[in-house]
Amino acid sequence: LTEKLQQTFKRMRNKGRLTEADVKEALREVRLALLEADVNFKVVREFLGRVEARAVGQDVLESLTPDQAVIRIVRDELIQLMGSHVERVHMASNPPTVIYMVGLQGAGKTTASAKLARMLRHQGRQPLLVAADIYRPAAIDQLKVLADKIQVPVVTEPSKTPVELAELGKAASRRMAKDVIIIDTAGRLHVDDDLMGELEAMNARIPANEMLLVVDAMTGQDAVRVAEAFKERLPLTGVVMTKLDGDARGGAALSIREVTQLPIKLVGSGEKLEDLEPFNPDRMASRILGMGDILTLIEKAEASMDREDTQALAEKITKADFTLDDFRAMIDQVKKLGPLSKVMEMMPGMGGKMAKMKDKVDDRSVVRVEAILNSMTKKERQRPEIIDGSRRLRIARGSGTTVQEVNRLLKQFDEIKKMMKQMKGKKGRMRMPRMPF
Ligand code: GDP
Ligand code: MG
Repeated sequence: LTEKLQQTFKRMRNKGRLTEADVKEALREVRLALLEADVNFKVVREFLGRVEARAVGQDVLESLTPDQAVIRIVRDELIQLMGSHVERVHMASNPPTVIYMVGLQGAGKTTASAKLARMLRHQGRQPLLVAADIYRPAAIDQLKVLADKIQVPVVTEPSKTPVELAELGKAASRRMAKDVIIIDTAGRLHVDDDLMGELEAMNARIPANEMLLVVDAMTGQDAVRVAEAFKERLPLTGVVMTKLDGDARGGAALSIREVTQLPIKLVGSGEKLEDLEPFNPDRMASRILGMGDILTLIEKAEASMDREDTQALAEKITKADFTLDDFRAMIDQVKKLGPLSKVMEMMPGMGGKMAKMKDKVDDRSVVRVEAILNSMTKKERQRPEIIDGSRRLRIARGSGTTVQEVNRLLKQFDEIKKMMKQMKGKKGRMRMPRMPF
């Protein structure tokens, strides 16, 4: 939530009961949050009308936690707007499935093509890529390099037209027994007739099962206009929204959905090939409201953490007899939530500048920290002060790390411990120690 919004909700929490004026005020802040997230203003107006109709009703006024009721209504309505379920990429009943990736230059088509191929491979499909962006030789090489990493063949041939390449792709899929053809098409800097005509011709010759429009989330309202223009000419079946790892709050997702009625099927959240996910309306709703995915995170935490373990750990922490054993248990708990970098991503305020921080959280270093902890004896973990030079060397060898890494971990553990002692004494704000990963 934006700070203002948070304050409004805090006020409500203090009151316990919601008045109509409270709802109105909260919605004023929601309106700002939506506009800030780059949601089309018409969409915002309609949306708030719906929310108000619901919020000023009985169930909110009589709810035990009115603030939550408002958040939930806003979220529910947002989710409703974006399509309440996760959309799939449909496979043809009669293979091969033909998928076109279309969109403007730089939107992320080539990257998304390779990512999708990888995703489908993991689902047991046999994809084939077609490099049909013949105007940019670099684009063909780019696709080849990416495809090489995931071991998916690429069809490309110099001096063929895009239509011919689509045909070649189809023939190759038969020959190589591939069941999905992903065609990476050319883009332009602007929507233009040539581009549309070419895509129409390809589709007329090799009809699409899925024609996915790839849009860059960072382009905000422009993405909405692009989607409208493409939809006018082409039988689009869905949208892939890329670069959601950046600053964009994702308001474009909402507007595109509302304006074009096209489902958003996939989102790209990074430059790596594994950074492609099914579009999750729930998570997007939180993101648009600027809440990060804190609700998802809370739910996940509740589901995966063992309550008693957590309780015992919390007690230890406040008692300040926190040992390396407890530290290991803590890492285990956090790991249950998923890869650390993803957990960080779900935290509010992690967009934008803060996103850089998540790059520093490296899941491989967690593995190293664990290896070090596992190479210690129980006694060493309980009483780290006994770990002298020769023990450090042994631990480093045993864990396949270096003495420097062992030193660093011990030093950071000391800092954490110190902080926990302070926490025991005084309440209120305190600086988080740097975690050793
Ligand atoms: P195309 O011209 O539509 O084929 O776009 P590309 O696939 O070549 O992507 C353009 C640039 O955006 C490249 O530098 C990609 O690495 C980058 N890119 C694509 N998808 C994402 C994403 O989800 N996140 C980030 N951060 N960068 C992306
Ligand atoms: Mg490209």
